[in-house]
Amino acid sequence: MSKSQLSAGDVLVANCTRCRQETNHTIVALVGETPAKIKCHTCGSEHKYRKPAAARKKAAPATPRARRTKAEPQAPEKQQWQNLQLNGTEKTQPYSMEARYRLMDLIEHPLFGIGQVQENSGTRKMTVLFVDGLKILRCG
Ligand SMILES: [Zn+2]
Repeated sequence: MSKSQLSAGDVLVANCTRCRQETNHTIVALVGETPAKIKCHTCGSEHKYRKPAAARKKAAPATPRARRTKAEPQAPEKQQWQNLQLNGTEKTQPYSMEARYRLMDLIEHPLFGIGQVQENSGTRKMTVLFVDGLKILRCG
C-alpha cells in the first residue's frame, strides 16, 4: 500500500499561504499524483499546494532546556540559616513587638516564618535571621 497515492478529497498537512503555518488541507485538484490545489481546513482558503515541511531538512531535535549552570552565589545569611538545621520540631515563641527575646531564641513571625534572634541591642530592636535573610524587628 503506497501512501503516495493521493486523490482529491484526501487530507494532508501542508503549508497554508494564509495561515502561514502547517495546517490540514483537503486536496481539491491533482496534477498527476501531485496535489495542485488544496483547501485549508483552518482558514478555508484554496491555494496551490506547496511542498510540505517534510521536504525540508528536519530540524535538530529540541535540546532539553538547558539548566542554569550558573550557581547563584549563596548569601552568607542563607548559609547561616542552613547552618541552623531547623527541622520544624524546635520550640518557637510567637513574635510580638512587646515581647522580650534573648539571643538565639527561636521566634515565629506571621510573615517571615521562623527566625532566630541574632542580635538584641536592647534598643527595642533586634536582628532576626529568617529563611529570607536578616530582618530587623521591634521587640520589647
Ligand atoms: Zn489556512
